[in-house]
Amino acid sequence: VTPSTEPRPAAAPDDPLRERLDNDNLTPMMRQYMTVKAAHPGAIVLFRMGDFFETFFEDAETCARLLDIVLTARSKEKDVKMAGVPHHAVDGYLARLIDAGQTVVVVDQVEDPKLAKGLVRREVTRILTPGTFLDPGANPRSAHYLSSLSFGGRSARARKMTLWGLAVLDLSTGEFRATSGEDDDLLFEEIARTGARELLVDARFAEDPRIARVRREMDRMTITLLDPDRYAAGPSIGRLAARIGEAGVVGARTAMAEPAIVAAGAALIYAEAAELPPEAKAILPGASLDHIHSLRPYLPSEGLVVDQQAREHLELFYARGDGDRSRSLLGVLDRAVTAMGGRTMAAWLAYPLRDPPAIRARQDAVAALVSVPSALDRLRDGLAAVADLERLIGRVVMGRAVPRDLVLMRRTLASAPAVLAAAAEAAVGPTDRSFEQALAGPTVESARLAVLAGVDPCTDLSTAIERALLDDPSNDLESASIFRPGYDAALDEVVDVATNGKTLIANLEAKEKDETKIGSLKVRYNSVFGYFIEVTKPNLKLVPAHYRRKQTVANAERFYTEELKELETKVLTAEEKQVERTKALFTEMTSSIAVHAKRLRALAEALAELDVLGALAHVASKRSWVRPLVDERGSIEIADGRHPVLEVLADELGERFVPNDISISDEQRLVIITGPNMAGKSTIMRQTALIAILAHMGSFVPASTAKIGVLDRIFTRVGASDDLSRGRSTFMVEMSETARILRSATSRSLILLDEIGRGTSTFDGLSIAWAVAEHIHDHVGAKTLFATHYHELTELTRDKPRAVNRHVAVKEWNEQIVFLRKLLAGPTNRSYGVQVARLAGLPAEVVDRAREVLDSLEAQALVAGDASAVAHLVRVRAAGLSEGEQLHLFQGASKTASDEVLARLRTTAIDDLSPRQAHALLAELIARLEET
Ligand code: ADP
Ligand code: MG
Repeated sequence: VTPSTEPRPAAAPDDPLRERLDNDNLTPMMRQYMTVKAAHPGAIVLFRMGDFFETFFEDAETCARLLDIVLTARSKEKDVKMAGVPHHAVDGYLARLIDAGQTVVVVDQVEDPKLAKGLVRREVTRILTPGTFLDPGANPRSAHYLSSLSFGGRSARARKMTLWGLAVLDLSTGEFRATSGEDDDLLFEEIARTGARELLVDARFAEDPRIARVRREMDRMTITLLDPDRYAAGPSIGRLAARIGEAGVVGARTAMAEPAIVAAGAALIYAEAAELPPEAKAILPGASLDHIHSLRPYLPSEGLVVDQQAREHLELFYARGDGDRSRSLLGVLDRAVTAMGGRTMAAWLAYPLRDPPAIRARQDAVAALVSVPSALDRLRDGLAAVADLERLIGRVVMGRAVPRDLVLMRRTLASAPAVLAAAAEAAVGPTDRSFEQALAGPTVESARLAVLAGVDPCTDLSTAIERALLDDPSNDLESASIFRPGYDAALDEVVDVATNGKTLIANLEAKEKDETKIGSLKVRYNSVFGYFIEVTKPNLKLVPAHYRRKQTVANAERFYTEELKELETKVLTAEEKQVERTKALFTEMTSSIAVHAKRLRALAEALAELDVLGALAHVASKRSWVRPLVDERGSIEIADGRHPVLEVLADELGERFVPNDISISDEQRLVIITGPNMAGKSTIMRQTALIAILAHMGSFVPASTAKIGVLDRIFTRVGASDDLSRGRSTFMVEMSETARILRSATSRSLILLDEIGRGTSTFDGLSIAWAVAEHIHDHVGAKTLFATHYHELTELTRDKPRAVNRHVAVKEWNEQIVFLRKLLAGPTNRSYGVQVARLAGLPAEVVDRAREVLDSLEAQALVAGDASAVAHLVRVRAAGLSEGEQLHLFQGASKTASDEVLARLRTTAIDDLSPRQAHALLAELIARLEET
């Protein structure tokens, strides 16, 4: 948690800062520094001095340590420690400080030191925090969010502020959205889903359990506590209205609860104070945050919500363990050409849809692109020349663009028409369909592609930049090679004088050489003495009388003449004027582009979406994915489904990934999957969820056919011992998360339970697994895949009409097991742990001994009833018997009748029984048990 960057009252009297500030011997500049430092006590202050940003005192020590830079001392005040970085390289150093958790205050010179009378004026021009400062080295395919949280309402019963509002702002692109709700779990999920770097919170809620949970579980997020004033409705909403307009606020109000609007306003105030404090105007004329022009309301629950656990478990964004992005679902999907497309793809994956028409609109676009490969190629080729337009706009608007940014913008705008034309062509589908194709289905058309293709390509702006800037301009605004000759007459004139003057100086040098016969004579320049004629010591006797001495150096004397002095004045004033004119023109240029931020953003968003659709089409055709049928009618039917990531890895290794069918419907909603370790249970569950998520994004899926009924949420829970990598997996955590799933899941949800109950003893674990499965079956009704090593659980299907058994097949061959990777009907009934141990290379004696022990244990278990007795107990309990009766039954049954009943059950070929026979058998067995 970093402290607030709010200005604070001056430090306490015994503070070293205060002492230093009170010290009368301070130089005026150090006094200037101390004043800033006192206003931002928690932050590192970077203080501009000439070409460097300097830090002093403790800050200098911190920076020397964090940045590997040299710790020195002020020449005037020897006891003042100092460490500095060159101003042109400051961004990289800033990134490292922010990464190390520091808040950094940048103090810049806001007047030209040459023109300053006395002390140069300096002001805070930027406050950098994790959420506002975009590290130039960060992955451009990830958004960079600042988020802000506000609470409101008051529930009478809970006596707490139950309403919450969350706003999310990406300062680099201007993306700004907000949401509100009341469900605490959903709030947590939403904060996690944004992946924001910094969360702003009203300091009054510092100890709120909801904040405590964020602090505990999201270690990468900085929580910044703000003064409650910042969350006062009046000022924050006022600020928001100033940015997005009164109408924008009214619109937001109809879609969201008040806290969301307050949170958005607070985020804006914070971002403005950090990125563009009023004092920065002096060095960034015309800069604004005008790229933020609207606030988009959204509801997390309007799409498919994949909870935090599931996101990690399914490896949507990162592989578990090493965090590798390429071995995640996003890694396989993100074939977008541009960084903007990459970010949009990540957003689509984070926010899958739930509305079938919206999903089908995306599918149409992908299908249309797949069906016209030449247009798809041209679309992607065109995008190759498209730069990160969203962030370019951000830089232009915030006054931080350099000339080459505008050239990138021009190139982007120049290639946009080709991209849009390709989209327009694909939008109408293939025009040369064969008779067979025509028979196979209706023409593939995409209304969405047509809309995107119709976006304003902003050609006027590209022409304007083209006219003004050189093709390869310098980024140095003091350079003469930025604007095209002929663009601005005033600039041309001063450039002419400056260059001309330089030619005249070169001529003068030749003339003096000739007249004095000093071959080594040179006209040179330095910033302190200006132009001078340099003559080396041995030639001094040849110097003519009209030369005036200017300076003596080691081996030479420096002179000037009246003629040189006149030329010098001419050249220097011309150069000064040229720099001034260039800067003015550049500011004018960027401001004139900034005015069009809204149009440019619309274009950027269209290009990004086309890029994503193109990438989805590309992946679909490269990997033979198919278009799933998405509808409101519940079931999931997948034929020949594959795991999208493992399939790619298998391909790379030249191995075969075995496809599988799976069906989950209302009638078969609880699918219990058994099979030995390593058979492929987890894989088939995950691939089912991944295919469902892909379908909700509008993507094609790895299968031969697929039908996906829309879902509201996907949950996963992995048994504790399978989840050790997270380092905090206790049985308690496993159970509390299972509880949360039971609380939040609905009949529209998909739940994956992978070996839950593992974290405790067999009896406990089995009982819990059993009860959880039963509860989901009877009360929740969610589609559930339940992988388990408790074979007893397969008995659930006897009582539960909507539960089915599946197993992943293996074959025994020569005392070895062969994994077939095929999901088949019915339960498996044998533990293959010992064979797996053999495969894993355990010594033969150990494996043999294990088999002996297993055999004897199995024999005992048969006698004692063992785990099956527990299964029985759970079932009896469900039948509504009292505790005493159960105990009685259990104790009695386990000694006598239960052995018999179990033996009967074990030998019954269930598949051979008719329902009537099964019922009769059950009645008989229960009667037998009740006898005792
Ligand atoms: P289980 O959960 O049953 O222990 P896993 O799902 O973890 O098994 O799979 C074990 C290994 O088998 C994994 O490393 C995976 O790569 C491989 N595997 C699983 N399913 C398939 C498949 N359908 N085709 C090829 N390899 C598979
Ligand atoms: Mg597994």
